Amino acid sequence: MNNPFIELGIRHDIVNAISELGFEKPTPIQEASIPVLLSGSNDFVGLAQTGTGKTAAFGLPLLELIDFEENHPQALVLCPTRELCLQIASDLTKFAKNIPNAKVVAVYGGASIMDQLRSIKRGVQIVVATPGRMLDIIGRKAIDFSDIRYVVLDEADEMLNMGFQDDIDEILSTTPEEKKTWLFSATMPSEVRRIAKKYMTDPHELTMGKQNTGNANIEHEYYIVRARDKYAAFKRIVDFNPDIFGIVFCRTKIETQEIAEALIKDGYNADSLHGDLSQQQRDKVMKRYRERSLQLLIATDVAARGIDVNDVTHVINYSLPDEIENYTHRSGRTARAGKTGVSIAIINSKEVGKIRQIERVIGKQFIKAEVPTGFDVCEKQLFSIIHKVHNVTVNDSQIEQYIPRIMDEFADLSKEDLIKRFASIEFNRFLEYYKNAPDLNATEDRRDGAGDRFARTGTRGDFTRLFINLGSVDGFSRGDLLGYICNTTKISGRTVGKIDVKGVYSFFEVQNSDSDQVFNSFQNAEFKGRPVRIEISGETRNETRGGASNSYNRREGGNRRDGDRSGRREGGSGNRDRNSGGGGFRDFSGKRREDRTERRKNY
Ligand code: ADP
Ligand code: MG
Repeated sequence: MNNPFIELGIRHDIVNAISELGFEKPTPIQEASIPVLLSGSNDFVGLAQTGTGKTAAFGLPLLELIDFEENHPQALVLCPTRELCLQIASDLTKFAKNIPNAKVVAVYGGASIMDQLRSIKRGVQIVVATPGRMLDIIGRKAIDFSDIRYVVLDEADEMLNMGFQDDIDEILSTTPEEKKTWLFSATMPSEVRRIAKKYMTDPHELTMGKQNTGNANIEHEYYIVRARDKYAAFKRIVDFNPDIFGIVFCRTKIETQEIAEALIKDGYNADSLHGDLSQQQRDKVMKRYRERSLQLLIATDVAARGIDVNDVTHVINYSLPDEIENYTHRSGRTARAGKTGVSIAIINSKEVGKIRQIERVIGKQFIKAEVPTGFDVCEKQLFSIIHKVHNVTVNDSQIEQYIPRIMDEFADLSKEDLIKRFASIEFNRFLEYYKNAPDLNATEDRRDGAGDRFARTGTRGDFTRLFINLGSVDGFSRGDLLGYICNTTKISGRTVGKIDVKGVYSFFEVQNSDSDQVFNSFQNAEFKGRPVRIEISGETRNETRGGASNSYNRREGGNRRDGDRSGRREGGSGNRDRNSGGGGFRDFSGKRREDRTERRKNY
């Protein structure tokens, strides 16, 4: 069976190179545009969503059409940002891997112009450039465009947004009349239509999919939270997705920097990408992200425009973009090359209207999602750990020598006990961390009212549900619990509600009117030498608002909220002493947190 790229007219050398990149068959835009572009006789306009393979759509035909025995520039690709410029140059270089003497140069600001000039001097057929630096080099008369045969305007809409119109005019005026111009864009606003008219004669126009719409493989979700809970909600969403590999969009450079710094401080693998960084810093960040040593890239719209990193699982709109159009570009960083992805917007109740506007632009509905509860996160993290244990690669030759001693140590434990203990090592940390986690969901219609903060409390009917940090692993039973309550309070065991003993923790219910008494009775208690911790559960079953113990819940919620607010900057948490002394918190990346209270206080 012939490779479909061969059938489109791409030669074996190139097909072999792209096969190594995993390109087995052309994407729709490639299939439609390659034959047209290979003829080399048309101007061309290609409109397709991001992530549909536009680089190869123009790159492969370019490689076919260029004469690599000649050592002068024959093709010029203009694109809006340095990152994109590097990426396109790198893609083209990979496609051209087996073509002798193929030379691609990336020309962009913020890096040494001398190096770029030297590369140009050595001979080059394809120049990939951002407009500013290109003009600079043209101004120095350091490049000869008199034999340019193809000009590609990639991400044309964004180049116009960024005000490159005049630069593009000037650059193109140095290229020959009879060159062919290929324009690629994700959207076709009227300005793009205008330049298409201006630069092209009777272009072959190709539109893939519905214009302006987002990628069908992206799911869109929004979360409504109060402005002051935004960071906490964001972190909880991240923690609920232990394998997240995401790009987080902020509105300003300052916000980008702040969020990245807060995340780093909280033990996440995150860094920022924005225009105030030096080129070197930006390259470093991008390299770490591509290599996945970063899990979260916090970026501005401009800096992340067009970035192509595979397998981005989530795009998070920490702030919605000012321009609705930018939402498509942001979400297009995920679900690339046929994969699926999630685009999340964390908004306040006043921004719901904006979501509706975006829905109209992308032609798709958002799903309203709930910020996960602390327990949801714990469960998710627990199973993530379990899967990790299951899938871990065992280094037999190294571990073997220790096995007899380990077996000896565990000789008296059943398989089940052993599993419980392994799972608990990590699970306990998350329980500890999230035990007081408040509900962070705000409602759409109510604007930041005091009431909805406490919409989910531990009060269920006439009962209050309590959490205790003891479970079957600790040898803790219903009898122990009832015995303790009867011995230390005047409460009858019969009035205690449902008791649910789990592995490393338990839940139980007491009458609302008893809850303060029970809670207090457990203060400073120990069980088999372990300090006992008891909390009002944040679970959400059949809760009703009001009731006797609501004042109690409110107090808890209030403390917590104050902690949230002051926590991030000033670093004070009322719960600190009760929970200090932990040996370190393991974050999702496996890095040990030295100061758990530091991280906790942000909730
Ligand atoms: P666009 O410019 O349309 O946003 P890109 O050209 O950056 O998209 O391509 C998106 C991703 O899809 C890249 O990672 C690219 O390597 C991959 N890709 C492109 N064409 C193919 C193909 N035919 N098969 C598999 N992957 C592809
Ligand atoms: Mg592209």
